[in-house]
Amino acid sequence: MNRKQFLQCSLVGVASLAVAPMSLTASCAAQAKKEEKKTGSLNISFQEGIAPGANLSEKLDFMEKLGVVGFEPGGRGLAGRVGEIKEALKNRPIKVAAICAGFDGFILADDPAIKEQFDTTMREIVAAAGELGSTGVVMVPAFNGQKPCKPHTQETRDYLCEQLHELGEYAVSQGTTVILEPLNRKECFYMRLVADAAAIARDSQSEGVKCMGDFWHMQEETSDYGAFWSAGTKYLQHVHMASRGRRSMPGEDGEKDDYRDGFRALKEMGYDKYVTFECGCQSEDRAAAVTAAVELLRSQWEEV
Ligand code: MG
Repeated sequence: MNRKQFLQCSLVGVASLAVAPMSLTASCAAQAKKEEKKTGSLNISFQEGIAPGANLSEKLDFMEKLGVVGFEPGGRGLAGRVGEIKEALKNRPIKVAAICAGFDGFILADDPAIKEQFDTTMREIVAAAGELGSTGVVMVPAFNGQKPCKPHTQETRDYLCEQLHELGEYAVSQGTTVILEPLNRKECFYMRLVADAAAIARDSQSEGVKCMGDFWHMQEETSDYGAFWSAGTKYLQHVHMASRGRRSMPGEDGEKDDYRDGFRALKEMGYDKYVTFECGCQSEDRAAAVTAAVELLRSQWEEV
């Protein structure tokens, strides 16, 4: 609190003393607490296809100029790209954010061979993510269309939490996490709210199991603010960003692209991880659309 804020606060305190038995100290403490809450930062990150550029180096140059601080590569083939990515990020103010999926099989596969594919490829990606200092590997336990899948029963949920516990502990040993991504009922009906994913993360009982929110998939939430707070800093490890009508560049869907309710929660909780663009682009001028999108997010972040 600076001197001006203190004086303003003192005046409010004096006024409140005149009408209510609230102490000056309590009034100032409440004001200071309110200010303390807004400590989160908007760390913008891009998936590989977002920035214009003929190769990774050109894309990173563009990102750097725009003040983008995170890079989210896909998980497929990541183990073979660790050296390339480390080299490309050397001497740049950009770090690896999350890693987007890229494994084979799925964790709830009923066929042991497909489950085995998941276990092997996911662990390879998690190890590479750890080497790159990534915040975690994004995953969905099973899309609606992935079959044969274990039935959606209590027993399966218990099994999922047990399996995620093992995977999470492995991720911790590699210095990273696994991040559950809730979608919507058409894609993954049992994990369509940030709170669903946070509860599964909690019940997995591993520091290496986290969750995220994707502003595109969050269309089923009744409140963006409530959704992020349902995970809180204990579980919220990542955020994806897109326009809210066509999953395009933020701003390309006009008034629908209002992220302020969610941003307010991120700010209040002191969110310090990444917000990654995962979206298409309607405009033929990608550079202009991406730049406008970043500016829009920064101005909405400032407003809350
Ligand atoms: Mg996403």
